[in-house]
Amino acid sequence: MREEIVHKLEVLADSAKYDVSCASSGVERHGVGKIGSASLGGICHAWSSDGRCISLLKVLHTNRCIFDCAYCINRRSNDIPRASFTSEELAELTMEFYRRNYIEGLFLSSAIENDPQETMEKIVRTLRLLRKTYGFAGYIHAKLIPGADPILVRQAGLLADRVSINLELPSQAGLAALAPQKKPALLLAPMQQVHREISGYLEDTRHFRHTPAFAPGGQSTQMIVGAIADTDYQLLQASSKLYRSFGMKRVYYSAYIPMNADSRLPALTVPPPRQREHRLYQADWLMRFYEFEADEILDRSQPFFDLEFDPKIDWAFRHMDLFPIEVNRASLHELLRVPGIGPTSAKRIVRHRRLAPLSYESLAKTGVVMKRARYFLTCGGRFCGDVSMYPENIKNKLRGQDQQYQQLSLF
Ligand code: SF4
Repeated sequence: MREEIVHKLEVLADSAKYDVSCASSGVERHGVGKIGSASLGGICHAWSSDGRCISLLKVLHTNRCIFDCAYCINRRSNDIPRASFTSEELAELTMEFYRRNYIEGLFLSSAIENDPQETMEKIVRTLRLLRKTYGFAGYIHAKLIPGADPILVRQAGLLADRVSINLELPSQAGLAALAPQKKPALLLAPMQQVHREISGYLEDTRHFRHTPAFAPGGQSTQMIVGAIADTDYQLLQASSKLYRSFGMKRVYYSAYIPMNADSRLPALTVPPPRQREHRLYQADWLMRFYEFEADEILDRSQPFFDLEFDPKIDWAFRHMDLFPIEVNRASLHELLRVPGIGPTSAKRIVRHRRLAPLSYESLAKTGVVMKRARYFLTCGGRFCGDVSMYPENIKNKLRGQDQQYQQLSLF
């Protein structure tokens, strides 16, 4: 590989590593030699819709940016090494990595060089080269550039498997403070367009056998946690709206990592708020798979997550009047509210009890996590817990479990 391309790859893969909206960043191992260290080459991992882990080349088209977002390493005012790929270079590089079996797909993002239109044109040109000239059929996740022409957004959607545009901050005030050049309307318009195009494509597939696929992997977005005084409640409300209004496939959360000295940003003296990010993913999961509404998980009187207990257990503690529920009579919706019962085990319970009532012993075989669920259930009228149903008693028991199951070191 030419030295110039290797240099560009190093710079542009490094600049892309803070974007979390393709599920995982590169794996980096310090001090164990360089064999297998994928992050330097910009390789990260994501999960396909059928659950397979796939390797992606995660790279920016350019890190030269005309914008100056306070939280971003690539912002105009930072003095960092800069580089740009041409479409031909990037398409060729992707194919070379693919042929060598390093990657199965591409995650392509970009800063905004000169103007949004020109940057989006470059991205579309790269995608077209890959799909049409090289016949690349692997997975492609492409970023949309705010302010680009809707025609280019459509072309990107017809060439990529998934498209995304990062909202970054959940409130208009947050955007105005940290990324004043990013206008909310410019971020939301392409999301709306993609939602419309995907709905149109799905409708067409019902009537026509051959219809061009538009972003069959859907659209996603990302929000930063802790870069400004937005509460978890605001973040969750924003996610809920994004799922409802734009049919998002995923909303990703990225704990703020301090990179720039900027008076608009929080001066963190402790590590970034990873626990908040983790809680947001758990709450997001509750909204997508457990029939929870954002308002039920947090509200204005409790705008932040409990960092000790996960959002589902925390919700249960605030609604102890609804428990214990009788496992042989509860609806699917009620079962999903019980800590320790997931969608699969809830469906198994409903199926199983059509044949015979569940006993305490048979309940464990449905996949229910009994060490948690037992404090919120009765089975055939018998309470399953070993302490009375006061939140403090249950909390003490659950705390004990966490200590009992600490992860052991392999070395
Ligand atoms: S537009 Fe994107 S790349 Fe440019 S400064 Fe803002 S977040 Fe960074």
